Amino acid sequence: MKYVGAHVSATGGVDQAVIRAHELKATAFALFTKNQRQWQAAPLSETVIAQFKAVCQQYGYQPEQILPHDSYLINLGHPDTEALEKSRSAFIDEMARCQQLGLSLLNFHPGSHLKQIDERDCLARIAESINIALDATQGVTAVIENTAGQGTNLGFRFEHLAAIIDGVEDKNRVGVCIDTCHAFAGGYDIRTDAACDETFAAFDRTVGFGYLRGMHLNDAKSAFNSRVDRHHSLGEGNIGHAPFCYIMRDPRFDGIPLILETVNPDIWADEIAWLKAQAA
Ligand SMILES: [Zn+2]
Ligand SMILES: [Zn+2]
Repeated sequence: MKYVGAHVSATGGVDQAVIRAHELKATAFALFTKNQRQWQAAPLSETVIAQFKAVCQQYGYQPEQILPHDSYLINLGHPDTEALEKSRSAFIDEMARCQQLGLSLLNFHPGSHLKQIDERDCLARIAESINIALDATQGVTAVIENTAGQGTNLGFRFEHLAAIIDGVEDKNRVGVCIDTCHAFAGGYDIRTDAACDETFAAFDRTVGFGYLRGMHLNDAKSAFNSRVDRHHSLGEGNIGHAPFCYIMRDPRFDGIPLILETVNPDIWADEIAWLKAQAA
């Protein structure tokens, strides 16, 4: 079973995101549980939590179909102790919000070394940040997203994801999300079936499909191996349609949220319908 959807807006409350997903005929969705550009957010009220759970039940969304995303401000590998602490508490809050909503996943970008510490140190800090957050919460899996490697972001090599997982104590509550645009911009070709075979074999060898908890399905405005993160609508960018057909037909991508973060929300319903047709 393939779960397909988009990262929908939670404007007006997290329950509104569920309604937007349903309107797109999505079988999965992503959302921010707070304003992603602010550090602080009001706690979720009992009313909002109850409404969110009710509308998920009404439209048939289970936790494994929902992939919340954390704030862009958080850097779990921050070189500065004080800034790292700030990110860690914000991340615990994000995990706790997911737990309150009855959700089981939280997707995040691993972190950046800001040219102040080496890669190994940064990856170790990220793993320790995850350990701290897992200790402070229950039932939510930390889902590390591969990045395009823009700036000093780590996570653009599958080896980075493997190194972080290696440092996490509770392997049952850590996973990964692969973003197709980020993989392509990070130097993993997926433009043909043969390229997909090779890239996903490398992923399986290095990380393992057992850790795959979600996918972001995006075409790329950025060039191959450019380390630039620019999404495009499916089939309109430098990747083309091939990997999206491939993913929809491959059972290794069953049972996880497959989420569009493409640039034109007006065609999300069409993109979702097209993806579903590829699986049929
Ligand atoms: Zn993404
Ligand atoms: Zn991106």
